[in-house]
Amino acid sequence: MNDVLKEFPQLGPTIESFTRSNFQDAERQALALRDESHRLKNRTLESLATGWAGAALTQQSRYQEAMEHLQAAIASLTELGRPDLTARLHNYVAVVYEELGDFDAAFVTYEQALAGARATGQRELEGRILGNIGEAYVNLDRFDEAREPLEQASLLLEDLGEWALQGWVLWAQGRVVQKHGDVDAARDMFVRAIEITDRGLGVRGRAEARVGLGSLYSELGRHDEAIGLLEEALVLAQSVRNRREVFKTHLALSQAYERAGNLEKALENYKAFHQARTEVYDEAARATTHLLKVETELSKERFEREIWRLRNVELATALEHLEEQARQLVRLSVRDGLTGVFNRRHLDEQLPSELARARRTGQPLSVAMIDLDNFKRINDSVGHAVGDKALQAIADVIGSHLRQSDVLARYGGEEFALVFPDTGEEAAAAACERIRAAIETRDWTDISLNLGLTASFGVAQADATCDAGTLLDEADARLYAAKAAGRNRVVASPGQPCEKA
Ligand code: GH3
Ligand code: MG
Ligand code: MG
Repeated sequence: MNDVLKEFPQLGPTIESFTRSNFQDAERQALALRDESHRLKNRTLESLATGWAGAALTQQSRYQEAMEHLQAAIASLTELGRPDLTARLHNYVAVVYEELGDFDAAFVTYEQALAGARATGQRELEGRILGNIGEAYVNLDRFDEAREPLEQASLLLEDLGEWALQGWVLWAQGRVVQKHGDVDAARDMFVRAIEITDRGLGVRGRAEARVGLGSLYSELGRHDEAIGLLEEALVLAQSVRNRREVFKTHLALSQAYERAGNLEKALENYKAFHQARTEVYDEAARATTHLLKVETELSKERFEREIWRLRNVELATALEHLEEQARQLVRLSVRDGLTGVFNRRHLDEQLPSELARARRTGQPLSVAMIDLDNFKRINDSVGHAVGDKALQAIADVIGSHLRQSDVLARYGGEEFALVFPDTGEEAAAAACERIRAAIETRDWTDISLNLGLTASFGVAQADATCDAGTLLDEADARLYAAKAAGRNRVVASPGQPCEKA
């Protein structure tokens, strides 16, 4: 950290906010620095600031945006011949994977980050990564594997006098010791972790240390102390807006209240745990389907463990019901069953927030409506099943032409909608034109001989006032114009922003 600061003192305020767990401030400062460096054509600093924004987004559980920023930064720093600056960013990429439940990817990336930190002699970073690896094993209940990286981290950080980080490593070590049944040693470690983290500025570590001691006290039947510590932890976790920390704390509180015999508070906290975790799920769904799948399977297993632990039959039934509802919602809420792309409901939810973001950042935003040409005829001639396959293939073709931040949704039967963040009408129309050409020239014989398919597109850009409905209507009107003009074309009218509803 210090070497980076020496070379790039402009990062000072960002890192300062970060150290204080002011992740929103850190994000704002990093983005401002990125834009400023862009103007000054300082590409290395621009990339570095982008990476720090990614780190700050990670801490706010905004995984999709975090991943985009981190990957962009890593790519350009590598291109600029500064791979030494990417180890810290790889560490955060691994954190994103871990928080989304993709532990395989997380461990591989942590190792990559570790190798980078060692190769460049960044010892504080090395300690931090080792601590993360240990913590990941702790979170997976793989305590034996957690021991060694945590010990290494602890030695390194002690050597460097990094006591704030040491407090957090102590907390993880306390969990290991606790699992091995040494309650007294665990308690001492948690107490010290609280003392140490309270002296520092990082709020998240203070919350974590309290969850450690609070949960231990709860297991020991010291209910009042346990609940006091956990309620404190909750306030701290909420203040840094880390949803993962918030839901972990609610879960711990729910167990503590249950043990203390206060079922009402137990259920209340379980519901809050659920709510916060569902928000993390939504992020996972946005990130990729793959990550969503992994997280859902993982949570089923965790949940079954929780239910078992909560033994109380009445409570367990209520929670099971809640959990089933939530699982159902996650399954149904965002994806289209046939094509696997987002569904209309997800689009209706996403578009307003993308519009709000565009207004906030001053970036343009465009949408496109796509309707396949004469699709009824295709169904009539080759059958509905082939039509379905064609729809899946079309979704793949469109998807393969998109950037990660673009949103593709199936809007209705053979209609799709696209959202292009940070994109003006001309660029969106150009992207649509590439998709249009790809559909027209695709060899469809793998699906059916003599099949030919084309699509028509209507593109519109948001202006400062228009809402989601108006914007989609405008794109739809242009789609209609494309049909009327003979199909298989893209219609956009640059310079005609949609009017207020
Ligand atoms: P155009 O849009 O070019 O005016 O002509 P079209 O034939 O595509 O007309 P329209 O959009 O009105 O008809 C859509 C047809 O798409 C109706 C239906 O046969 C077919 N379709 C809609 N949803 C599905 C689906 O899920 N699977 C299949 N196989 N066909 C579908
Ligand atoms: Mg149609
Ligand atoms: Mg059609």
